Amino acid sequence: MSDPLLLALDQGTTSSRAIVFNAQGEAVSQAQHEFRQHYPRPGWVEHDAEEIWATQKTAAEEAVAAARGKGEIRAIGITNQRETVVVWDAKTGEPVGSAIVWQDRRTADLCRSLREAGHEDEVSAATGLRLDPYFSGTKLAWLLEAKPELRSRAEAGEIRAGTIDSWLIWKLTEGGVHATDASNASRTLLCRLDTGDWDDGLLETFGLPRAWLPEVVDSSGEIGEATALDGLRGVPIAGVAGDQQAALFGQACLEPGLAKNTYGTGCFLLMPVGDRPVASRHHLLSTIAWRIGGRTEYALEGSVFVAGSAIQWLRDELGVIRSAAECDELAGTVEDSHGAVLVPAFTGLGAPQWDPYARGALLGLTRGVNRAHLCRAALEAIALQTADLVDCMREDAGRPLTELRADGGASRSRLLLQIQADLLGIPVVRPVHVETTAWGAAGLAGLAVGVWKDRADFSASWQADLTVEPDPAADPAALRRAWTRAVERSRDWVQEPPRT
Ligand code: ADP
Repeated sequence: MSDPLLLALDQGTTSSRAIVFNAQGEAVSQAQHEFRQHYPRPGWVEHDAEEIWATQKTAAEEAVAAARGKGEIRAIGITNQRETVVVWDAKTGEPVGSAIVWQDRRTADLCRSLREAGHEDEVSAATGLRLDPYFSGTKLAWLLEAKPELRSRAEAGEIRAGTIDSWLIWKLTEGGVHATDASNASRTLLCRLDTGDWDDGLLETFGLPRAWLPEVVDSSGEIGEATALDGLRGVPIAGVAGDQQAALFGQACLEPGLAKNTYGTGCFLLMPVGDRPVASRHHLLSTIAWRIGGRTEYALEGSVFVAGSAIQWLRDELGVIRSAAECDELAGTVEDSHGAVLVPAFTGLGAPQWDPYARGALLGLTRGVNRAHLCRAALEAIALQTADLVDCMREDAGRPLTELRADGGASRSRLLLQIQADLLGIPVVRPVHVETTAWGAAGLAGLAVGVWKDRADFSASWQADLTVEPDPAADPAALRRAWTRAVERSRDWVQEPPRT
């Protein structure tokens, strides 16, 4: 029998990628196509759903063609930009208007009026989320308000609504299946954490019909055949998860005690908490990690708005470095930041402060602070923001963290990982295969079709490349104290309420 292969479709915010993996987690082939971003008004962000599908289909077919002769593709896994919504015609499969992207802020007023009407507590308790334009529910509500004629069509089942996973499943099965997985459903504000299904009370709060929504299915399990792709007829779609949850799975963080942090433009930190959701006392999100074999598991999630982009700021706005790698080199030439603390609150602060009025601050400057110290302060800022989130998670989950698994572009910086390990007092580990998001989707699919006999078998394929142990001589208390004071001084800076 030929080697089992898995096709992962990684539908991101700026590009559609496809990777064919073997069972050891090696990428056998891959392809990627970017698509256009549309900003029709300030604060609005749209995608053309047809273009998403076209780029994803081409990437998939190219990756499949390049993998020919190297094994047999057994299943397809999908992972996607979360919270983005698409509405389409149930007969023709044509999108009705543009996809509204997760970054879009057009529903800020709607969120405010729902808050003022007293819905925040009920919605947060049921969904683990906040009333924020980020999530899908208010985007769909906005659409029905902007185009009232859609309501009767939605109720009659003439049009469908879903997140990007649902859109791809529909296109891949040529209209055969309308489904979403539990992890994606948990980002909509319409799905209860405890039942893992759409909730009539929430649907009423947002004024949305149930008829146009997809069926919520397991994250690992056969969903339908991908008949639309050349060279793949008969291959099942068998794994689906939102990008951060897929990365958590791909990092084999399957049990409480492990967590993953993706160090990209921003950071996404997720920690599994087991089979009961944990309500956060620190404004973290509580979310569904995945549902496998009908069993739902949960995670806590926190994000850092400005992480790798602080390095880009040093490069592009200040010109103190020419490349991100140079930041690492320069920072490595000094022992510490010489007292400088950078709070990169360029767009306000997220958890645990949630202060949209905060702005960036550079404190503790003396005449001797040079660009190497600034680079070091920028790396420290990324690690300090992450450490604050980890502390919140440890308290919310009521259990320690034994290891942090790192991925994303900025995890290339060994020094960043060392600073992180020293701050947390636990090892920080980067895996051999850093394509954790796509690998997670492949893992969920492979598990469903028997490529691995169980989760433990799958997680055995995860391998550490670099393990950074905390330096026993490190004493991070003073740095953390300075950071906390600096964060306080960055807060409540903007006087006018920011327009979101
Ligand atoms: P995203 O998926 O969010 O677009 P990536 O995972 O590709 O981001 O990571 C890109 C980020 O990684 C950039 O913000 C960049 O500054 C940062 N980065 C890349 N290489 C390094 C490095 N050697 N040291 C520190 N940061 C780095």
